[in-house]
Amino acid sequence: MPGLSTEALKALVRTVPDFPKSGIQFRDITTLLAHGEGLAASIDLLADRAVTLGASKVAGIEARGFIFGTALALRLGLGFVPLRKAGKLPVEVISEDYALEYGSATLELDPTIIEPGEHVLVVDDLLATGGTAIAGANLLRRAGARVEHAMFVIDLPELAGAQALRDAGVTPHALMEFAGH
Ligand code: AMP
Repeated sequence: MPGLSTEALKALVRTVPDFPKSGIQFRDITTLLAHGEGLAASIDLLADRAVTLGASKVAGIEARGFIFGTALALRLGLGFVPLRKAGKLPVEVISEDYALEYGSATLELDPTIIEPGEHVLVVDDLLATGGTAIAGANLLRRAGARVEHAMFVIDLPELAGAQALRDAGVTPHALMEFAGH
């Protein structure tokens, strides 16, 4: 039985205006995750694209990137690398500070779990300016990984994250686009 179309998936994403601040249209995946068929179709569509890319691990960005990234890694039979928020890992880490669409943040990685030269696919729920995914790619590269692709459920094209990623040598892939910020 064919899964849901990307149009049907798009309709499962809830838009919350002015969160977390005025002018931001928050694209909330809670409603997509809660829909069994929608969740399955999201992972199916990500896996259809990812399978051709030849990655040896999937890295997900805390927290929403963990949900899609882990499911995708499991589907592809690959290991999962958590790119964590600051202060969560109990071992020595490498870290990257980056600017967000609203605010700033830090990602951390245990570099010992990356094999030299291995191909790692970055996953997050949403691509806005690209700052988060580029910070993740930088961290993985500093640990010795090759990062050539990043996958998202949602892209916000007006924020030009796709071009920022391409400029950083990373090809972006997204299941759907939303207008606005
Ligand atoms: P950026 O670094 O600008 O590409 O922002 C991407 C990160 O911020 C992702 O982890 C998203 O989950 C979150 N994010 C940014 N903008 C939005 C938005 N409009 N709706 C939901 N999440 C967002």
